[in-house]
Amino acid sequence: MSYAALRAGRSPEEVKLIAVTKHIPMETIAQVIDIGLRNLGESYIQEAVKKIEDLNKADPVTRLSWHLIGHLQKNKVKHAVTLFDVIHSLDSIELAKEIDTHAARLGKVQSVLIQVKLAEEHTKSGVAIDLVPAFIDAIRGLSHVSVVGFMTIPPFLEDPKEVRPYFRQLNQLRESVYGMGFKNLELSMGMSNDYEVAIEEGSTLVRIGTAIFGPR
Ligand SMILES: *Cc1c(COP(=O)(O)O)cnc(C)c1O
Repeated sequence: MSYAALRAGRSPEEVKLIAVTKHIPMETIAQVIDIGLRNLGESYIQEAVKKIEDLNKADPVTRLSWHLIGHLQKNKVKHAVTLFDVIHSLDSIELAKEIDTHAARLGKVQSVLIQVKLAEEHTKSGVAIDLVPAFIDAIRGLSHVSVVGFMTIPPFLEDPKEVRPYFRQLNQLRESVYGMGFKNLELSMGMSNDYEVAIEEGSTLVRIGTAIFGPR
């Protein structure tokens, strides 16, 4: 990670590592917490509820940051807002409203990343890139939702260099919305097979499972 940042003329501190712990047993998660990782990512609410509660019980002192990286259904929002520091998968206005409602009840401002769809076919979820500025305008009034950046999952391509144009597009989107009054927006992009390219293209949050834990 550090080499990829340096190669791109970036400081390694600009890039945060999110250890993706889906399907990983508790003992193994405890080991990566021991070596100092504090940002953890989960994809499924059901699985995350138990893990997060158990880990908090086992170690109430260490402050972990939990990231929801998987698709979020409206009926799971209450759990998501209770458990997660950052939701990476905001992809509809209805979902934003639901998050706002539950966050308001908890007296919390929920940090979210807008999941962006860059190619027509490549994923079911995500806001189409052209619609992102209008999407931001539409959810601006929600006082318990804070947009802190963008996330994307590019199509899986054997050669990670082929995903570079997708990452570059997300970075350009970020540049273009800075005009809308944002500062320091995060880019959640890059997984085990393509994180180096993602960092070269401006990623600030890489989501890594396999490269840390081995195949699931
Ligand atoms: C599982 C998952 C990851 C981690 O993928 P690896 O290839 O194991 O690093 C990252 N992001 C999302 C959205 C995932 O679902």
